[in-house]
Amino acid sequence: MTQTEEFRKYAHEFVDWIADYYSDIEKYPVKAQVKPREIFNKIPVLPPETGENMADIFKDFENIILPGITHWQSPNFFAYFPANASYPSLLAEMLTSALGAQCMKWETSPAAAELEARVTSWLRDMMGLPSVWTGVIQDTASTSTLAAILTAREKYSDYLINLNGMKDYSDLRVYCSVETHSSIEKAVKIAGIGNSNLVKIGTDGNFAMIPSELRRRIEEDIKNGYKPLCVVAAFGTTGSTAVDPLKEISVICRKFGIWLHIDAAYAGSALLLPEFRSLTDGLEQADSFVFNPHKWLFTNFDCSVYFVKDPAALVKTFEIIPEYLKTLSDNKVNNYCDWGIPLGRRFRALKLWFVIRSFGVKGLQEKLRNHISIAKTIEQIITNEKSFEILAPVNFNVICFRYKPDNLLSEEALNCLNENLLPNT
Ligand SMILES: *Cc1c(COP(=O)(O)O)cnc(C)c1O
Repeated sequence: MTQTEEFRKYAHEFVDWIADYYSDIEKYPVKAQVKPREIFNKIPVLPPETGENMADIFKDFENIILPGITHWQSPNFFAYFPANASYPSLLAEMLTSALGAQCMKWETSPAAAELEARVTSWLRDMMGLPSVWTGVIQDTASTSTLAAILTAREKYSDYLINLNGMKDYSDLRVYCSVETHSSIEKAVKIAGIGNSNLVKIGTDGNFAMIPSELRRRIEEDIKNGYKPLCVVAAFGTTGSTAVDPLKEISVICRKFGIWLHIDAAYAGSALLLPEFRSLTDGLEQADSFVFNPHKWLFTNFDCSVYFVKDPAALVKTFEIIPEYLKTLSDNKVNNYCDWGIPLGRRFRALKLWFVIRSFGVKGLQEKLRNHISIAKTIEQIITNEKSFEILAPVNFNVICFRYKPDNLLSEEALNCLNENLLPNT
């Protein structure tokens, strides 16, 4: 067999395997049933000296690797926010890996750059986001939020921190609620701002940021010589999908000239539904916004869409043009390597294009509405159940609840009881 014949044979077999995997996925235990080091110890200490055949490699994939996989695509997966793929997304990802294009500059694959510009503007309009925003695809929300904080930092310092380092800017401050995602803390650390300059604002009974506390902390900080840089507001927190009051937060940011970044990593997809747009009053004042199609928009990991009001500031923060990266078209096109951290970039726009075209806007809306209505039904069932308790508003399709038996237990005992109910396998 030639290499191409062999590729064709196994590619067909693997596609069959994938189709069966998806049909049978509920038969797998969601969580891998292995102990630490079990897989590691099954893999030889030394790599093979000579090439092995694909049939043997695949056998080991099934026997050694698969038992150590946690099945995120299982409908029984409830561990984190889902990271749901779909067939159209998978098909596009096959083509992406076959093309193997590096989509750093326009010239390194013009179609990738231009499709990225088009699908991100599709999404912006599908979600009712301000038409003056521009989108770019990043790998994750963590990267997008880091890009936001770095851009805020550079704009604030008139790009002098990029030039001279932090020496004149040691007292920058970033604000978020106590419920915001750990990626904010990571970004603040990496951006050189320092963890002690991340101010965590308290939340109300709905787990949303208390804007009066935000204002008070900012005023206090200004009085004490700190420099308020950025507020990260959550549209759907990780703990309970709480939505921070964007209107009031945006007024505060505008008053003090502070960058407003919105982390909508999970719940942003809900904005495809016009009925959720009343939650976004004030959003148009934001400087940046991130959401992950790889969470709740049927696009396989990784795909995070980052929108900015001022793309020039983003590019000015990241652009570096050594001799070997100069191209003749540089001033006419988007070179997305200047819109974020990595130089090399995968062709992620293709899978978004496949997903949006295959489902259509209406099809995507129907799916999201269905998920939300299932959640509402379950919320109702739990509410009617005397020994269960809903713990946070069900804003989207996540339900936080616990078992609370009649005989009143202490908070501690309830926590312990509920922890024990969580499946370990
Ligand atoms: C999942 C999540 C993140 C992190 O997303 P990555 O793409 O894995 O970096 C950030 N913020 C919120 C609110 C999230 O739900």
